[in-house]
Amino acid sequence: MVSKSNKIITRKRQTKILATLGPASSSPEMIRKLILAGVDNFRLNFSHGTHEDHAERLKIIRQMEQEFQTPIGIVADLQGPKLRVGRFKEGSIKLKKGMKIRFDLDKTEGDETRVNLPHPEIIGAVDIGDELLIDDGKVRVVIDFKGSDHLVVKVISGVKMSNNKGVNVPGVVLPIAALTKKDRKDLAAALDMNVDWIAQSFVQQPKDVAEARKLIQGRAGLIAKIEKPAALETFDEILDLVDGIMLARGDLGVEIPPEDVPAVQKRIIRQVRQAGKPIIVATQMLESMIENPAPTRAEASDVATAVYDGTDAVMLSAETAAGDYPLEAVSIMDRIAQRTEKDETYHRIIEDDKLRVLENSSDAITAAAHEVAKNVNAASIVNYTSSGSTALRSARLRPFVPILCMTQNHEVARKLALSYGVHPVHVTDVNDIDEAIIKAKVMVKDRKIAKTGQRIVLTAGVPFGTPGSTNSLRVSWVD
Ligand code: PGA
Ligand code: MN
Repeated sequence: MVSKSNKIITRKRQTKILATLGPASSSPEMIRKLILAGVDNFRLNFSHGTHEDHAERLKIIRQMEQEFQTPIGIVADLQGPKLRVGRFKEGSIKLKKGMKIRFDLDKTEGDETRVNLPHPEIIGAVDIGDELLIDDGKVRVVIDFKGSDHLVVKVISGVKMSNNKGVNVPGVVLPIAALTKKDRKDLAAALDMNVDWIAQSFVQQPKDVAEARKLIQGRAGLIAKIEKPAALETFDEILDLVDGIMLARGDLGVEIPPEDVPAVQKRIIRQVRQAGKPIIVATQMLESMIENPAPTRAEASDVATAVYDGTDAVMLSAETAAGDYPLEAVSIMDRIAQRTEKDETYHRIIEDDKLRVLENSSDAITAAAHEVAKNVNAASIVNYTSSGSTALRSARLRPFVPILCMTQNHEVARKLALSYGVHPVHVTDVNDIDEAIIKAKVMVKDRKIAKTGQRIVLTAGVPFGTPGSTNSLRVSWVD
């Protein structure tokens, strides 16, 4: 019989993997294989599937969590106010550069002369000269005339527009609710299922996330998806109001010029890391693997770049949800992260990027533990934390050794599955710092984080179990 501890999974990388579940990846067997291949967190995409589908997937993940004694984070991703054109008589229309088309509220099927645009708020908010992007930017039109209930647009580029394609309005803050009726229902269902995170799509302004936060009431962490230029303008305030950020490059890369995406990625990762919150780089990382068993060299480089940039997590979307090679996608992502983290250049980049130590004792102790661990060549940093905040502070420093995070709180452990380098473990019956050390020594061995004779650096708060009280540091040998 396999002993219990043999089933524990230990990753050989600090960067985390978040994979989206879908029709290609929903059986218990497949979910088990995805975890073994490297998935640390799963995304349930509420743009597709029923509540029953998501609840079933969640149940399977929670069973696996028991089996592998490893907390797994679950992100419920809300669709948000995704704008679309209506339908066409023939299913689609042909476009030519310079051609003029009327966009109106009339629900009847469109043709080459007029198209249904069922969003009065777009018609109200745009001006002559503004652009609309349709079908992920494949079609680009400019507003030529604006009436009270319709627009006339001129085609700049694109050859075809078909039923229900998405519409992006890049430069304009639209007066639309950040949470649609569907989002509100999905949010309630996701919270009932006990997901760990809610990801909010198409956030435009701080008040959008404030509204979601109010509805969530601390029952899950809130992740703002950055995919609108407006959100970049008020990013500081948005970041203050949320628990994590997803750089949603799919829609973002349509809304801003593609050449701006890499610089935005570097800036956002740095700023979110500085704030001590998890950052996820998402979309098209291994896009060609939806149909192919191996990535392009450019895709391998894209995953590596996110790692060099110091991200907490990298995400797979259709590659695992609907592609032909979900396991191959996860395992190459795992290998790229491992390989990149071994690179000397990576070490130099991360070490050169010194972060300011915040002015409180928890942060000072955490930073000291990081330095001590380097100086004594420790195999692991161990944080005992009730709220998880110490582990976030540790992750923020991007140590090159694993952070074992012991917590008595299941929810805290699951959320930390998204953070750089953190190996969360749920513990019970730890009443003082000596008991914490005894337990930590066993756990680092069980999890193959450290071997006999190696050192670990532990932080904890005394008195024990008081959130935010981290004030003690110990160095111990693993025996
Ligand atoms: P989506 O978000 O997959 O829900 O569209 C990610 C993105 O836009 O990049
Ligand atoms: Mn999106």
